Amino acid sequence: MSSVLPSRLDPWQAVDNRSVVAGRLPLSSLPRLRGLLLDATGDVRFRLGFGRDEARRAVLRCEVAATLKLRCQRCLEALDHKVDADTWLALVSGIDEERLLPERYDPLPVDDEPIRPRDLIEDELLLALPQIPMHAPVVCAQQIPDVDGARMRSAKASPFAVLAALKHGR
Ligand SMILES: [Zn+2]
Repeated sequence: MSSVLPSRLDPWQAVDNRSVVAGRLPLSSLPRLRGLLLDATGDVRFRLGFGRDEARRAVLRCEVAATLKLRCQRCLEALDHKVDADTWLALVSGIDEERLLPERYDPLPVDDEPIRPRDLIEDELLLALPQIPMHAPVVCAQQIPDVDGARMRSAKASPFAVLAALKHGR
């Protein structure tokens, strides 16, 4: 197992060698992700394991774990978004191959060019971002109005309800 992440690697050779690369990368070194974070401090822990499955398919297990600092879109305060993703990718060299993949795999299109493992790790983190980052309601600084409770209270106090009751002789 190697803890040095090569900038490029030949995926087919990595599959044949059943290569495993694991380690840490600073979040600040991932340019596409960095711009989406409130604060790019911290690392992503990763493990890339190449090999073949029971159908002799060339596959890559990609595990990433990180805490991403985002901005809550409700209260605009900082929010820790924990990512712990475990994705199975299958190396495919054409659209036909991609169609035949079992559901548990995501396609990883490859040609004769080497792949950039850092991009794969960054892709997994980007996929794990929530569409609208928000705290859970109980911890969010922006309290959500209790709509049902307010409606019940106003119904009780409504002068119209009292009038309606008088009109009907009650
Ligand atoms: Zn919030």
